[in-house]
Amino acid sequence: MGGEGLTLCRASFIKIEFNYKSSISISKWVEIIIMGYIDLHLHTTASDGVLSPSEVVRYAKAKGLQAIAITDHDTIEGLEEGLSEGQRIGFEVIPGIEISAEHSPGSMHILGYFLDIHHPFLNERLGYLQKARAERNPKIVQKLNQLGIDINFDEVLKASGGGQVGRPHFANVLLEKKVVKSFQEAFDRFLKKGATAYVDKFRFTSKEALHFINEAKGVAVLAHPKTLGVNGYSELEKLILQLVEEGLKGIEAYYPEHSSSEVAQFKTLADRYGLLMTGGTDYHGMEKNGLDIGVGRGEMKLPYSIVENLKAVRSRSLLGG
Ligand code: AMP
Ligand code: ZN
Ligand code: FE
Ligand code: FE
Repeated sequence: MGGEGLTLCRASFIKIEFNYKSSISISKWVEIIIMGYIDLHLHTTASDGVLSPSEVVRYAKAKGLQAIAITDHDTIEGLEEGLSEGQRIGFEVIPGIEISAEHSPGSMHILGYFLDIHHPFLNERLGYLQKARAERNPKIVQKLNQLGIDINFDEVLKASGGGQVGRPHFANVLLEKKVVKSFQEAFDRFLKKGATAYVDKFRFTSKEALHFINEAKGVAVLAHPKTLGVNGYSELEKLILQLVEEGLKGIEAYYPEHSSSEVAQFKTLADRYGLLMTGGTDYHGMEKNGLDIGVGRGEMKLPYSIVENLKAVRSRSLLGG
């Protein structure tokens, strides 16, 4: 390693220490240098991301990451393309998903890693979710029409670029048509829970989601626990305990919106319940929220050892341990 490289490494080390004081040690930094860094939470055009699965894979490699997981909302449609692009260019791609589970008052998302994408039960469950989504989407159009907004489903379909249609695509059309001034205004006025054009859609319970992820040989991880909207540590602990009993294996502790004290809290829970600590940026395309792959808003570099830990947990579960 040349002198310049070392200086850069030192700079990134200082930033890591600053962001995650309590959780990233010198040894982790050394790991990042030696083994590379990863991002285990990414979206593609198969759901509401900006880049196609192949583009995300090529972008991650070009940025110098060591591995990524593609975790589209409720769909594995982008995985075959992402995995084969990874093979083609020699880059590790982990087949993943992000399932929205039934929960209130906040939202519960469950990540699944190393899924067997051809597993019949997984495909049947996801087919059910696609059907629920297909039934919901025209109802949103109808509600918007009733509010006097000129919009049709073909326009939304076009905005989705051929992948799964979600509310962000409605928001983009409303923005394009100048019905709203910003993407967020579209959610706040029309699309978010309780707003005028909101239509609820079916969600599996956490137990059901964890069951089919585990059946498909996946490792289940609770995404961004902050969005659960639970009241304080003891309520969070109770919920985590329930999820562990239902088959949860990890917690997404490292996430752009998590403060270092929250990361420390998630670490306490992870240690207590034998959960893995994972992380990712939730990259949807920089233009969406300013978060970049592998680093988030700055130096959120996570070491490859997280992937090794996931693999170890998966092997243990497959052996029935
Ligand atoms: P859908 O799966 O079609 O219900 O859309 C869910 C997606 O909409 C989420 O993954 C977010 O990207 C986005 N979303 C949900 N609620 C909001 C909100 N209040 N503000 C902005 N984006 C949101
Ligand atoms: Zn999304
Ligand atoms: Fe999420
Ligand atoms: Fe996500």
